[in-house]
Amino acid sequence: MVRGEGSLLWDSQGKRYIDLFAGIAVSCLGYGHPTWVRAVQQQSAQLAHLSNYYFTEPNIRLAAALCHRTGFDRAFFCNSGTEAIEALLKLARRHFFSKGEDSRHTVVAFERAFHGRTMGALAATGQGAYRAGFGPLGPVVHVPYGDLAAVADKLTPEVAAVLVEPVQGEGGVRPAPPGFLAGLRALTRERGALLLADEIQTGVGRTGAFLACEHSNVEADAVALAKGLGGGFPIGAMLCREALAGALPPGSHGSTYGGNPLGSAAALAVLEVVEQEGLVARAAQLGGKLASRLSEMVKEHPRVVESQRGLGLLQALVLRPEVDGRGLLVALREAGILVTLAGGEALRFSPALNIPEALLDEALAKVDQVLRGIG
Ligand SMILES: *Cc1c(COP(=O)(O)O)cnc(C)c1O
Repeated sequence: MVRGEGSLLWDSQGKRYIDLFAGIAVSCLGYGHPTWVRAVQQQSAQLAHLSNYYFTEPNIRLAAALCHRTGFDRAFFCNSGTEAIEALLKLARRHFFSKGEDSRHTVVAFERAFHGRTMGALAATGQGAYRAGFGPLGPVVHVPYGDLAAVADKLTPEVAAVLVEPVQGEGGVRPAPPGFLAGLRALTRERGALLLADEIQTGVGRTGAFLACEHSNVEADAVALAKGLGGGFPIGAMLCREALAGALPPGSHGSTYGGNPLGSAAALAVLEVVEQEGLVARAAQLGGKLASRLSEMVKEHPRVVESQRGLGLLQALVLRPEVDGRGLLVALREAGILVTLAGGEALRFSPALNIPEALLDEALAKVDQVLRGIG
């Protein structure tokens, strides 16, 4: 690929593709959005990096904007999703350490969860394919996603936190069953553990709410953001409540690049465009259309697809087990459509939040054609 514009990409042969995956739910404004480009150009000319020895205005403005938008009180910045998860895990451990409860060191996470590839985040990831060969990892206890009774069973006094994705992304685009997140909130409160939300894939409007936890009226104790936050610039963030802020005093955690003014300016541009163009509401509305179009395809191609699932502009067609998913990706790419597979069996649609509706229609007509061809 050599060039992108909006939700279109061109390869080195000049072939045009409609992008329905946005660099794994990252390029939420599409490619080359003028506000984002201007912000990155201006900030790189003004001051790109400094380290956390000094405050910079873009970073403070970003922390304030995120806290204002979400109701959290504090922000820590890093450069990727997995680093944001490490920050959550370290926050949880050190919180209980500073309260004299250092026997609370375990994390409850979920089967099929994906939290990243550094050792702590990998320990919480609940998929063998990512973990194989890197053990021993932990201590993390994995239970089935959606199973509150299993969580209750594992929530012993050794558990520091429950870590959850409000929609499992890499695990196959599985939205939390009704009542699950609220149940986790109630259980963790009752047992004195923290609730940590991994909104790296779902955050910044993707599911039709700024944070996907808002759909369930659930407020986690801390949340991880990345992917869409930078709109293509690598940045991660952990947001937490004031009560937890003291758990990571100066020097206890940090990052050389974290919070750099260039990344902060890129993320501020994302938040500005999301606000100005009403992209959270658009993700809800266009996501609804996408979902109904995909469920029509389930009826039209029953031999290829089994079901549709998702939330907002994070949607999937679940392929029948006998369908060759990788082969289907290639056929779609040849037809000029870029999507991804999640969890092996889910054809994932995570387009830019501002993809023009006509372009989405054109892409879905092609997806329909390709499915007809193999069905
Ligand atoms: C992508 C992702 C991560 C890891 O983010 P990286 O930036 O690849 O480190 C963690 N959790 C979820 C839910 C993700 O989708």
